[in-house]
Amino acid sequence: MGLDGRVCAAQPAPVARLVKRLLQAPNLPLATLWAEQLSAAGFESRVLRAYASGIAGEIPPDQALPEVWLLDDSRFDEATAWFASWLRPVERRWACTRCGEIIEGPFETCWNCGASMPG
Ligand SMILES: [Zn+2]
Repeated sequence: MGLDGRVCAAQPAPVARLVKRLLQAPNLPLATLWAEQLSAAGFESRVLRAYASGIAGEIPPDQALPEVWLLDDSRFDEATAWFASWLRPVERRWACTRCGEIIEGPFETCWNCGASMPG
């Protein structure tokens, strides 16, 4: 990425259409995944860099995170609720890395040995 960000073709152009910032992601792959999931669920979304001004090198990393924007702000609450339920589904299944127990349901620690759910 060059320093002349004002004319950088890689920056998404239709910023004016993006009416509501839905959430901020810790990295670009995750932001892209979230935007794809939201769009697939009917909440059309786009990923934008927090730094769209072309001065990325002068912004601390924690302020240069990718953001997911919702195109239709009238559905903001709906999209937020959908995303929360998608991110933390009640029905899930994971294997304990310490004792090998299969944990089902909304539990984040192993009921058998107390180990935390693997990230
Ligand atoms: Zn366990």
